[in-house]
Amino acid sequence: MGKKILVLGSSFGGYHCAVTLRKLLRKEHAVRVVSSDDVFTFIPSLPWVIMGWREPAAIQFPVADSLRRKGIDFVQDTIVKADPDGNRVTGRKGDYEYDYLVAATGSELDFEAIPGLDPERGHGHSVFTVEQALQAREALQRAIGKGSGSLVFGNAQGASCLGPVYEAAMMTETYLRRKKIRHKFRITLFTNEPWLGHFGVAGFGKMTRMLEDEFAERHIEWRIDSKMAGVTPDAVELEGGEKLESDFSLIVPAFYGSHAYMGIEGLSNPRGFVIADDYLCNPKYQNIYAAGVALAIAPPFKTAVPVGVPKTGQMTEEMAGVAAHNIAADIKGGSKKRGKDFDVVCIADAGDTGFYLSASPLLPPRNKLVHKEGKAAHFMKIAFEKYYMASLRYGLPKTHFGW
Ligand SMILES: Cc1cc2nc3c(=O)[nH]c(=O)nc-3n(C[C@H](O)[C@H](O)[C@H](O)COP(=O)(O)OP(=O)(O)OC[C@H]3O[C@@H](n4cnc5c(N)ncnc54)[C@H](O)[C@@H]3O)c2cc1C
Repeated sequence: MGKKILVLGSSFGGYHCAVTLRKLLRKEHAVRVVSSDDVFTFIPSLPWVIMGWREPAAIQFPVADSLRRKGIDFVQDTIVKADPDGNRVTGRKGDYEYDYLVAATGSELDFEAIPGLDPERGHGHSVFTVEQALQAREALQRAIGKGSGSLVFGNAQGASCLGPVYEAAMMTETYLRRKKIRHKFRITLFTNEPWLGHFGVAGFGKMTRMLEDEFAERHIEWRIDSKMAGVTPDAVELEGGEKLESDFSLIVPAFYGSHAYMGIEGLSNPRGFVIADDYLCNPKYQNIYAAGVALAIAPPFKTAVPVGVPKTGQMTEEMAGVAAHNIAADIKGGSKKRGKDFDVVCIADAGDTGFYLSASPLLPPRNKLVHKEGKAAHFMKIAFEKYYMASLRYGLPKTHFGW
């Protein structure tokens, strides 16, 4: 009898998982995606949206139509509660039943933890959605329009997506330098990490010194082991009393998984990330899989201020492929793949240069570590974005050359 596979989320994890499932399973098995968004956004380009170097249309794609054309049912809805004992989830519009569930819902942003951090109700800005990036663009232009001032970029305690503020700080520095007004602005980056470039994984060899050198060259000040106390209209306040004056601040908060999974014994950890074994399968509810940011991964290293583990786009797509493969193996028989032996490939853009990184495995000590700084990395990142969007639009093969 045909099985019902329900994929929650339609971004890097959900889209890739659903498309892979459709390829692996015969038509008698139904694949359905339920997601809050019917548009896919290439999130790594959002810092360029802040700078005005990209318009949203260039990095968005109508994901619902594309899934439907591939024989995958799509419903735009936000899931508010999972009922793993009843094999159903509840959305704002209705209930959805399944035989297999894939949680690829990414994260919710924990702005409430820090007074003044919320871009809607407070004074900080963020970079997780097109709306946030456009709001940050406007605020940054207002600050620059004053002619001089202080610009602050930071990772809050518990944050795990640590790279974007490094990128945004260096892009802003490039922008100001090109306009010949760099000398009028102070740029500061603070981070929860114990050193620059720790990235939740105890760093990537000499990448730390490369970043320190780059920041020194660009005269970007930095603070490590930072814990925020709050954001006011004109300052970011750190615990310990330091106030970083700010005419503009861009801050990455800590994540929740999803409130839809939270509090369900055996399904999620206390912050709503889905617990899964090495095969990305929940140990208690063995018809539930997790991929991407929604997956619970305990921080492997103790740090003075909490730092989460990064789950990059490339890692997410690999997990999504493994989750799809393992569900197909459950249904058709066959061996399962391991899903947590992570490698990482990533490029951080710095405005007029970039940092390329490839590491295997993700955590040290490693068998392979390649990092290079240069203009080539900057152009590779641009080329990758263009290829990725074209691959969605025209069905080109996937590649991981320039995440
Ligand atoms: C600014 C920025 C820059 C980045 N740069 C890079 C980079 O250069 N390279 C890299 O590899 N990674 C980068 N990342 C990380 C990358 O974007 C993430 O790894 C990736 O988005 C994770 O994909 P995901 O599918 O797990 O979650 P998400 O992309 O967060 O997607 C979650 C999906 O679930 C849906 N959803 C959420 N909640 C619900 C709900 N309750 N019900 C139904 N649907 C729901 C959403 O609508 C969305 O479709 C960056 C991240 C940011 C924020």
